[in-house]
Amino acid sequence: MDIIHISAECYPAAKVGGLADVVGALPKYQALMGHSATVLMPFYHGKFSRENEFSTFFSGFARLGHTNFAFNVLKPKTNTLGYELLLIDIPGLFDRDNVYSYHDDSERFITFQIAALNWLREREKTPDVVHCHDQHTGFIPFMMSKVREYQRFENVPTVFTIHNGQYQGQFGFDRLYYLPPFHSYFNGLVEWHNLINPLASAIKCAWRVTTVSPSYLDEISYSMNGMEELLRTERGKSLGILNGIDADVWNPETDPMLEKNFDVKTADEGKKANKDLLCSQFGLDPSKPLFTFIGRLVGEKGADILPDIIYDVLHYSPGEQNILILGSGEKHVEHALLQLEDQFKGNYCSYIGYNERLSHLIYAGADFLLMPSRVEPCGLNQMYALRYGTVPIVRRTGGLRDTVTDIGDNGFGVCHDQCTKSDVTHAIHRAKLLYQNKRTFKKVRKQIMEIDHSWNKAALEYIELYQSLKL
Ligand code: ADP
Repeated sequence: MDIIHISAECYPAAKVGGLADVVGALPKYQALMGHSATVLMPFYHGKFSRENEFSTFFSGFARLGHTNFAFNVLKPKTNTLGYELLLIDIPGLFDRDNVYSYHDDSERFITFQIAALNWLREREKTPDVVHCHDQHTGFIPFMMSKVREYQRFENVPTVFTIHNGQYQGQFGFDRLYYLPPFHSYFNGLVEWHNLINPLASAIKCAWRVTTVSPSYLDEISYSMNGMEELLRTERGKSLGILNGIDADVWNPETDPMLEKNFDVKTADEGKKANKDLLCSQFGLDPSKPLFTFIGRLVGEKGADILPDIIYDVLHYSPGEQNILILGSGEKHVEHALLQLEDQFKGNYCSYIGYNERLSHLIYAGADFLLMPSRVEPCGLNQMYALRYGTVPIVRRTGGLRDTVTDIGDNGFGVCHDQCTKSDVTHAIHRAKLLYQNKRTFKKVRKQIMEIDHSWNKAALEYIELYQSLKL
């Protein structure tokens, strides 16, 4: 099949979170299965654009309201990704360092979507399916089916994946003119609660809607910032497909970012070497169990309760464990985490910022990974942790519920029900008991490293879904 993925992120070209990991891996696995997979994304002026050379493949214009934007479709001169990567360069809108969080994000991503369809319209081959990811690409299914300019795509199936339903991208009807002209009869297809809402539009117009885990689909049908009713209405065309992980990038045997590579047989020595390095870098004691957290420091991830948890655990059971945090996000959380460092020097450290290499080292060197998330559509961290022999401590929600079973239920992780200080500290206490029982801890470590969470299964599920849409 000829598959086009459209996304705001794709690893390694631009990554803010799990969306990038998914869009960077799923097409590779689809290509390995013999399909043609292409990723179309914006060309940001970050590290990837500075470190690679590109050739211009197509030039055109995208009209946003009364403004014309010139754009170029670029290709990296060398591509070893295993699928075709095309980057849309729109000067004035994307020649900035960051992916999101600009005042004109709506303008930026609508222009990107229009440019993507303008290029696709000129492409010789009509794709078999267009797969859009998250709200930044949410108008594509609508435009492909209802905007006259793109009539060529009326019968091309669209799949829309909700990676994170918290971000909806809504704006007022005063900016309806951003979208290319369409019959006012269809206004309802871009609207939700009197606002223009790309996420709602995608849920209404895509041929199929997927979420990144089955439990997340169940949960958002009852709670998703006022959109649950729409999800229940469209439930018939929706399904949850659990994400996989890129088992080549996330492989402790070959990962170049580690201090020492290891497999199931050499996990004890391998993990120890990585833990020793981490502990020496952050002034921690390697003989203690190491609890870690990696991620965005936002309410969704339960990051706001981390400072209180750290205080309680280190104050009431001093010297029994170390805690290391890697993340960035809300300033008050970053500040509270940094403030604790003086008080608990030698047992606690936080690295505020984004650091890909350090994240790999932590997955490899930690004993436990905390994920107290309030919302977790799938969560990749727990799957990376499993692969690297680190026991996840997770709140039972979304994809965490689908991927981690508690040791008390013949499983391999530590689970808790609420995103509260008492639930998490109790889970940490249970984890320490597990750590002390060396035989069981070793057994669990071996068991988790052998779980197969690679994309093979999910990539096939997506192909079957696309094929079911063939006219
Ligand atoms: P989300 O997309 O909601 O942020 P996921 O669990 O799906 O969460 O994916 C998070 C990805 O981002 C993982 O690959 C994780 O290792 C990475 N990550 C998050 N924060 C950081 C950070 N500060 N430094 C390095 N990697 C990070």
